[in-house]
Amino acid sequence: AARWNLAGATALVTGGSKGIGHAIVEELAGFGARVHTCSRNAAELEECRRRWEEKGLQVTVFVCDVSVRGDREDLMATVRATFGGRLDILVNNAGQSMFKDTLECTGEDYSRIMATNLESCFHLSQLAHPLLLAAAGGGGSVVNISSIAGFIGLPALAVYSMTKGAMNQLTRSLATEWASDSIRVNCVAPGGIRTDISSDKTIDPELVKKEMARLPMGRIGEPEEVASMVAFLCMPAASYMTGQVICIDGGHTKA
Ligand code: NDP
Repeated sequence: AARWNLAGATALVTGGSKGIGHAIVEELAGFGARVHTCSRNAAELEECRRRWEEKGLQVTVFVCDVSVRGDREDLMATVRATFGGRLDILVNNAGQSMFKDTLECTGEDYSRIMATNLESCFHLSQLAHPLLLAAAGGGGSVVNISSIAGFIGLPALAVYSMTKGAMNQLTRSLATEWASDSIRVNCVAPGGIRTDISSDKTIDPELVKKEMARLPMGRIGEPEEVASMVAFLCMPAASYMTGQVICIDGGHTKA
């Protein structure tokens, strides 16, 4: 059963105060991992920490804006201190969507989404590398959260989708580069999941209707349905799996 367990593992999950990240924190901690998570909102994060403590989950928190280089360095310093220089699991989950026609995207929009979704993923992976090398059982595991928007074209989502397509490729690149370090790198690409992102008021309701009509399972997903795949990818049970991008999308991209 140790193959299907995370007992004693240490994990960093970015963006754990809400949505998919929140579910990932609870799933990993529920399997026995010690989890460190971050978001930008101190009050929200502290409220989460209090509730997790009540549930008996081992979670520590840190306020950090993953789009800021210095914040990412500070975050990894707290990870190093909290877990004694060793990290078994890095989940690059924090991200923001932006529904905007391409011709209306400003340079500032472009830089913000690139820094938040993509540069954070690249740089946190770099920063985590020495800690992942020191992981228990030799070599840790990275899981990136991209999106089905990285596979298919969707209107008003160009910049967001570019970051997600690049995360899919970064997953394959790092998987091959770090395989000799025994570090596995995989990616989960969710379809529409019930969170603040999917209830964003700037989404075109016509687009939602059209996409729902061609969604085989005909319903939106729940954050827990993404979290279970993330947990599996981090377990010893997935020890021969690397460089994969797995859609959790109710069949959306296969229709
Ligand atoms: P939510 O908006 O519900 O949660 C996002 C989390 O990330 C929050 O905890 C938020 O906290 C944090 N966050 C956002 N920006 C930053 C930042 N700059 N620095 C640190 N933390 C940040 O989003 P979801 O749970 O829906 O999304 C999670 C991931 O899943 C994203 O990468 C998203 O692209 C992806 N995804 C989501 C889909 C969906 O339908 N929901 C579909 C496909 C992919 P705070 O804002 O307080 O900082």
